[in-house]
Formats: sequence, C-alpha cells, structure tokens
Amino acid sequence: MTSVYDDNNIFAKILRREIPCQSVYEDDYVLAFRDIAPKAPVHILVIPKGRYISVADFGAQATADEITAFWRAVAKIANDMELPAGGFRTIANTGLHGGQEVPHFHVHLLGGRALGPMLAQAA
Ligand code: 5GP
Repeated sequence: MTSVYDDNNIFAKILRREIPCQSVYEDDYVLAFRDIAPKAPVHILVIPKGRYISVADFGAQATADEITAFWRAVAKIANDMELPAGGFRTIANTGLHGGQEVPHFHVHLLGGRALGPMLAQAA
C-alpha cells in the first residue's frame, strides 16, 4: 500500500462533496455515511476528515482531538442506531491483506443481525 495519501480516493471526493453520500453523522473531525453496498441491515462507514490512509497512519499521526472525536463518534453512532443491545462489529481493513479498497482510513460499523464468524474461512 502506498504511503502517500491519494486526494482522488472516493472518500476524499465524498468529503469535498463531489460525490453524494447518505450522511448519518458529521462534526468538525468526522463524517459517517451509509455504505453503498451494505453487508448488514446497518452498515455505516465512519471516516476522519483528516488525510489518513489507514488505522496505523491515523493512530500514529492524528492529533488527540481527532482520535477522541473519531472514537466518540463511532460510539455515538452505534448507540444512535441501537446496536449495542444486540451486539455489532467494527472493522478497519488495511492494505492488500486486509482487503482495503479505499485508501482513506475508515471503520465499518455493522449490525442489525447476527453476523456470524469474524472471517470467512480459517487460515
Ligand atoms: P474497504 O474495503 O476499503 O474496507 O471498504 C470500502 C467500502 O466503501 C466498501 O464497503 C464499499 O462498498 C464502500 N464504498 C465504495 N465506494 C463508495 C461510495 O461511493 N459511496 C459509499 N457510500 N460507499 C462506498
């Protein structure tokens, strides 16, 4: 995976409002919107507004305010969607082995049904 942020990735375009999204939450640091190809009844993508490629990039480079705002937003959205009672899953795919398609850090928030095993198949 490249170490240089690509300003033409889809989520950068969504942040610049060049591409529409179904927003469910926004603040100074965070945007959250529905995944275009949902894998569960609730499938939200939570992204920082900053230019971070991956969870590792975000964890290493983001400010404390950005990190706090991000995880507070994940928790708030999960609560607003009433996910904690039944349980839910958060996923941050990274790079080639992680199956990351969009090189802007994002957390998938999935729930609304039993999601089954974490991975499709064992190693
Ligand atoms: P990744 O594989 O990078 O972890 O996940 C990228 C996600 O972005 C996929 O679940 C895919 O369906 C979603 N996605 C890709 N393009 C768009 C788009 O234009 N709009 C929205 N809302 N989601 C998108």
